[in-house]
Amino acid sequence: MPPERDLFSKFDALIAEREALMATGVRDPFAIVMDEVKSPTLAIIKGKETILLGTYNYMGMTFDADVIAAGKDALDRFGSGTTGSRVLNGTYSPHKDCEDALKEFYGTEHAMVFSTGYQANLGMISTLAGKGEYIILDADSHASIYDGCALGNAEIVRFRHNSVEDLDKRLGRLPKEPGKLVVLEGVYSMLGDIAPLPEMVAVAKKHGCMVLVDEAHGMGFFGPNGRGVYEEQGVEDQVDFVVGTFSKSVGTVGGFCVSNHPKFDVMRLVCRPYVFTASLPPSVVATAATSIRKLMHAGEKRAHLWANSKRLHGGLKEMGYTLGTATPQSAIIAVILKDQTQAVALWQSLLEGGLYVNMARPPATPAGTYLLRCSLCAEHSAEQVETILAMFKASGQAVGAID
Ligand code: PMP
Repeated sequence: MPPERDLFSKFDALIAEREALMATGVRDPFAIVMDEVKSPTLAIIKGKETILLGTYNYMGMTFDADVIAAGKDALDRFGSGTTGSRVLNGTYSPHKDCEDALKEFYGTEHAMVFSTGYQANLGMISTLAGKGEYIILDADSHASIYDGCALGNAEIVRFRHNSVEDLDKRLGRLPKEPGKLVVLEGVYSMLGDIAPLPEMVAVAKKHGCMVLVDEAHGMGFFGPNGRGVYEEQGVEDQVDFVVGTFSKSVGTVGGFCVSNHPKFDVMRLVCRPYVFTASLPPSVVATAATSIRKLMHAGEKRAHLWANSKRLHGGLKEMGYTLGTATPQSAIIAVILKDQTQAVALWQSLLEGGLYVNMARPPATPAGTYLLRCSLCAEHSAEQVETILAMFKASGQAVGAID
């Protein structure tokens, strides 16, 4: 018998790198436990009250009284889970109501709820473009978009991040006949920058492509109705598919796609990540529906979130931090550090002081960068933002990240 090959050996370098980092005595940035969560902006971590600046709870809906009541009611009336696929026994009236809420929110003809946003991208992208067709995507696309490409049989073409010129050039080289899907994101989540959608969409349409925009980080916050960057930038009529998630502004879990395409509903039969998985628990879709309808009237929250984002961006920049964007473009503000050691040191110092932010590292980040990703919430008070800035000043100086 040949000797058994250890399939884990390909991860040895990563295991060694992590062990070396942990041996320096730092806490593991990827093993944080929230022991208690008091509000969208406060948690207890290892006995310490900690401000949360590393969640996607942009609109602070997780503790909304109406959202919680809707979830409890659905739990009582429909039980804890569906134990089945949407196309068999797993569609309950709360799933249909949630899709109705999405249609109202987006003003579209069709809405389809998936079990996560990851699966929505996986399903839509792998199913829309098939063998002999093309998917054209931004090089900095989210993992779920890349995985959607990997799951399908289409030809994959990448263009330089946010480069309208490169998109045009690459589309110009493709054969005219086959179907093509251009995949864009409203907000790119690592650096918090937004896409120039009108220019991108115009180029895509010039070359006869359909367009899908992932508004995971734009929903709730951008546009007069909170639909996303594509609404704010006025290209609603030209975007064929919008993918989104309930795990950010909506404040629960789940994913979706909305569209006005007349044949859209055939997706329910042919999209494997929709068909071959269990549907969301009714309590989850009931909380999502309530939250989505409330987000339609959240203009004040949106304004406060913008104010928070501008203040944090301006304050950090003034201290001398290098940020992901020159101006505040979204609710994500990325603080770029020199290397992993400095990123972990600052992350740990902030945590010990009572502030949680997300640490991001390659391959999730572009160009080998190590960054601390701050994401603001509409429920952060102006006073909390000042406290956050003071913490960044003290910790940044302590670890030598700023003067
Ligand atoms: N798209 C983007 C751009 C995301 O950032 C994420 C999650 N971080 C997703 C899709 C997946 O969403 P979900 O958490 O619902 O799986």
